[in-house]
Amino acid sequence: MRLVEALNELFLPAACAACREAPAAGRGLCEACAAALTADVRLATPRVSGTPPVVAAGAYDGPLAEALNEYKERRRRELAPALAALLRRAVAVVAEEAPGAVLVPVPPTRAARRERGFDHVASLCAPMGATSRCLRAGPRPDSVGLTPAQRLRAARAGLAVVPRRAAALADSGRPAILVDDIVTTGATLSAAAAVLRRAGVAVPAAVAVARVE
Ligand SMILES: [Zn+2]
Repeated sequence: MRLVEALNELFLPAACAACREAPAAGRGLCEACAAALTADVRLATPRVSGTPPVVAAGAYDGPLAEALNEYKERRRRELAPALAALLRRAVAVVAEEAPGAVLVPVPPTRAARRERGFDHVASLCAPMGATSRCLRAGPRPDSVGLTPAQRLRAARAGLAVVPRRAAALADSGRPAILVDDIVTTGATLSAAAAVLRRAGVAVPAAVAVARVE
């Protein structure tokens, strides 16, 4: 971050993460954008086969896309409650079909984790009840610019279970609901489901904050 930006962030009231014009009225958004950030819960349609059904809280568009990017890339963690509220709507739909399910956040790549300093998906899951951080990231490259087949291979190579936690989840007999921020091709969710299933965990469904349509 450049010094002038850092100083602005310190001394000026934070602007709304979505429109970047009005000052944020607490929680990172102005009142108009907070009101516009409503759930539009639907089944996403990922292209990659083997992806569990994915319910997304909204389209990756408008204030949701802006808020998600600011939360994730600029570490505006005050946006977490608004995003978690949306995610909760998607989880509620899936939880009805998978009673007793445990949320399993998809981990960020090691590089992203280092850069951001926090696990943005796990942070959204934390207030939502039973969560198992039983997936871990390997040196998965960023998927930008890869073909769908390359994304799938990269995702599979870069995700693994934390053996002790995955075994505990498998032994409990509870199913896993995968949680990710954005669903695009489904490559990451498909890979995550594959490694969990190999560890003996059922993965009936996944949820995402936003779907790219
Ligand atoms: Zn706004």
